[in-house]
Amino acid sequence: MLTMQSYDAIIIGAGPAGMIAAMRASENNKKVLLIERNHTLGVKLLITGGGRCNLTNASDIEDFLNKFSASKDFLRNSFAQFFNTELLSFFEKSGIAFKTEENGCVFPVGDKAMDILNVLKQKLQENNVEILTGERVKNITIKNKRVEGVITFSNKQFLAKSVVVSTGGLSYPKTGSTGDGYELAKKLGHTITPLKPALVPIAIKEKFIKDWQGISLKKVLVTVLDNGKKVAERLDDIIFTHFGISGPVILDVSAVVYDKLELKNKVELAINFVPKLNQKELDVFVLRELKINSAKTIKNMFKDVLPRKMMEQFLKYCNLSPDITAHQMTTEERKRFIKGLSNLCLTVERVLPIKDGIITRGGVNTKEINPKTLESKLVEGLFFAGEVIDIDATTGGYNLQAAFSTGWVCGGNI
Ligand SMILES: Cc1cc2nc3c(=O)[nH]c(=O)nc-3n(C[C@H](O)[C@H](O)[C@H](O)COP(=O)(O)OP(=O)(O)OC[C@H]3O[C@@H](n4cnc5c(N)ncnc54)[C@H](O)[C@@H]3O)c2cc1C
Repeated sequence: MLTMQSYDAIIIGAGPAGMIAAMRASENNKKVLLIERNHTLGVKLLITGGGRCNLTNASDIEDFLNKFSASKDFLRNSFAQFFNTELLSFFEKSGIAFKTEENGCVFPVGDKAMDILNVLKQKLQENNVEILTGERVKNITIKNKRVEGVITFSNKQFLAKSVVVSTGGLSYPKTGSTGDGYELAKKLGHTITPLKPALVPIAIKEKFIKDWQGISLKKVLVTVLDNGKKVAERLDDIIFTHFGISGPVILDVSAVVYDKLELKNKVELAINFVPKLNQKELDVFVLRELKINSAKTIKNMFKDVLPRKMMEQFLKYCNLSPDITAHQMTTEERKRFIKGLSNLCLTVERVLPIKDGIITRGGVNTKEINPKTLESKLVEGLFFAGEVIDIDATTGGYNLQAAFSTGWVCGGNI
């Protein structure tokens, strides 16, 4: 074994959490080593928000915390120390301007995740953080219940007074996040709460969905039915894919769907394509359209509600002939059509695996981490930051904020 230098802190993993932890830890002239298994930093950060990086959310702290599935109180401490305004001002000082879009989602004005990454890289350089890429940590060594250093897969040993585990979760493993942090934590006595997919697309049994592949619709209401009983509801955009459905509205209900499927329940998704109208208003709207366009075939109407490409399969679903004209439609047929528009029911086949998710549910048990400092309660000098901890939220910039906030807090306590 090759024993290398000794450091004040070693940070494992150069994602958002690790980079900001390293930067902050090095602020007081501390000697910091950032180890990353990839050959470049922030690989996952670059694909966030479709390459645009939904950095955070403009909502207040209570709304923010409500977006997390567990560990709300645990995160309160980190957010109290470094929240959205602090995060934005950190990047603004380096010349990045931000814009707030729908649902409070905050993006850099330039729509480039690369701009965010460049600031972090620049800060690491300014603070003289030593960066070692292409090196994967295998073990964290301890002596008398205190952190001693790390050993890499190429048998190099580095010594440090503090070690931060910021290795991410299990989603998109090609970005380098393959769950190493869970193993490192387990070996040191930490428990890992069950690892499950969250924010993942959903495969649907009904085959006709395939014909809708590539179509996306704004603001549909999706209701999750567990053995016929409503258990969740979300309003947002949907995308039809070759296997089923995705888009923010589906990602946000996927965790509930997964949990219900685990119980072997029948799970359905009821889609309302016209959530702005109540049943009566929808009735009036459809009747009026049918009246105005009485000679037209149904498939050539309602283009503002459903794209033409969807109509044929949609009418089949409603058990209606695509060539039926408006004036030929019976009351019964109109009722079926209206029901389809406001309550199209799809049967869930499965939720896609963690690797296809945006975030991992579960992780290092928050009960074993001091929420104020993010230091392990079991091993002195060991810290956790980011997705490796049992924290996960819905889409909207919440997860990156959690990674940056926890990274910042770790770094400040080294
Ligand atoms: C497609 C996609 C889009 C997303 N978009 C958004 C968004 O717009 N807004 C948002 O809030 N969230 C988004 N997320 C979630 C967000 O990316 C994560 O919450 C965030 O990256 C977690 O940061 P992290 O630093 O904890 O982990 P990661 O970003 O996963 O970084 C962990 C790093 O550790 C390295 N590593 C792992 N093991 C080792 C080891 N043994 N030794 C050395 N290095 C190691 C990895 O290579 C990796 O670089 C998105 C996720 C995905 C997959």
